[in-house]
Amino acid sequence: MQTQEQLLEALGVDLQRYCGEGLQAGSPITGMYALSLRADNVTVIAEKIGMADAAFRHWRNVPAPRRGELIRLFGEGLRTHKQTLGELVTLEAGKILQEGLGEVQEMIDICDFALGLSRQLYGLTIASERPGHRMMETWHPLGVVGVISAFNFPVAVWAWNAALAIVCGNSVVWKPSEKTPLTAIAVHTLFEQACAQFGSDAPAGLAQLIIGGSASGAALVDDRRVPLISATGSTRMGRAVAQACAHRFARTILELGGNNAMIVTPSADLDMALRAIVFSAVGTAGQRCTSLRRLFVHESVYEALVPRLKHVYATLPVANPLEPGTLVGPLIDGAAYETMQAVLQQAASADAMITGGARVTVAGCEQGYFVQPALVELAAQTQLMHQETFAPLLYIVPYEKLADAIAMNNAVPQGLSSSIFTTDLREAEAFIAASGSDCGIANVNIGPSGAEIGGAFGGEKETGGGRESGSDAWKGYMRRATNTVNYSDALPLAQGISFEV
Ligand code: NAD
Repeated sequence: MQTQEQLLEALGVDLQRYCGEGLQAGSPITGMYALSLRADNVTVIAEKIGMADAAFRHWRNVPAPRRGELIRLFGEGLRTHKQTLGELVTLEAGKILQEGLGEVQEMIDICDFALGLSRQLYGLTIASERPGHRMMETWHPLGVVGVISAFNFPVAVWAWNAALAIVCGNSVVWKPSEKTPLTAIAVHTLFEQACAQFGSDAPAGLAQLIIGGSASGAALVDDRRVPLISATGSTRMGRAVAQACAHRFARTILELGGNNAMIVTPSADLDMALRAIVFSAVGTAGQRCTSLRRLFVHESVYEALVPRLKHVYATLPVANPLEPGTLVGPLIDGAAYETMQAVLQQAASADAMITGGARVTVAGCEQGYFVQPALVELAAQTQLMHQETFAPLLYIVPYEKLADAIAMNNAVPQGLSSSIFTTDLREAEAFIAASGSDCGIANVNIGPSGAEIGGAFGGEKETGGGRESGSDAWKGYMRRATNTVNYSDALPLAQGISFEV
């Protein structure tokens, strides 16, 4: 297996450009640091934003289908390097290789979507009330788009934003998580390679990368040359970003914490539900924003489902995520492990029945924080369940009436994803109706995680309200102008107003 340094070199990264002091990069698998990187200071950050601003002024005039061609080339590069980049994602974020490769595939998918979109940035034509007048909407790029991303999707989240932002005619400045800078450097290099292939139409500085921690993110957020900040991470971070952006009337796309639930009804296909529960709750070691955290099981099927779930949990392969057959890799760091243990202790003192949750020692990875995923059975939803614990910890609560289960689904501050397992049409429709789940994602007979790029992605309430990726999310990266064109030789006023001079 290759090291992070070897993988970066295979992708054509010039490491000398990035090495220095300020940020340690490594792997949660070994718990060891591999490289020391130069963190950007505020002067360098301001310069990078300035370069992106200058690039925008050229790029906005390049025809959108031509802009799509750059994203096509970038997508081709991703196809060529999928295996290498996927391994790098696994090494730096700790997710199993299948998921590392899946994350790169998600980047490829959004590039394909954005390429098609580059010929479909449609506006409306609107009937005017005045003779000889035409009304229409035109969509224009915004400027420099700031992207702040979290450790758990270290490359896909940037691609969701950047592929759309760039075909829409913007430039992009990226501040990745300080826990996953190496994958960001790799992706930035692949994008630069696509720009070089594209030719001089792609201005220098079109995509910028800032290496650093939360203070670097804050510097990006505070810069008045950045009209849109798309920030993915904790609700704590989103609250700070939202306030700073509101102060200067900048736009935001906020993709924050989730606390996702599933309801298993009496008519559910339990075999399917079981697979969906396990994938959603332990995939990426419970470190997805859409991870299943709360399971509401109808009391009539509780005994048919929960013991089977416990059996599967007892046999889950927790190991090095690069090894075939592993389903659960490490937590990102010791702090994540400590948080999980503290929450389990609180649950124990609230009379919960707890299965799993202990640290697992993996040979050759003794410094990594591997855990046996935990099941926490409670008689009713408690205040503890209102917070997102970013670890493989699944609460299970029985319910009697569907209305009560939907109320519990909606009772938490977050509103990202939700799902129901049922073969009863009435229950399914009730769950996705206006009085059903209040989340941005409401699924039937699939789990809450693993979204496709074609739909708009995001959640309500403390999840931030942003939408990224498919559907019409591209409109978030553009400004709308309403144009009224008078091609007559008179000047009638709207609403029939008479104003003779
Ligand atoms: P985090 O909030 O600690 O960090 C995320 C990013 O924000 C990092 O790049 C960090 O440097 C930056 N940051 C932190 N404070 C900032 C500030 N004041 N100003 C500007 N930037 C700042 O989150 P994390 O631990 O990396 O990721 C886990 C969290 O992200 C979870 O809550 C998870 O649910 C959430 N998440 C949400 C989505 C979604 O789409 N809704 C997707 C992935 C992760």
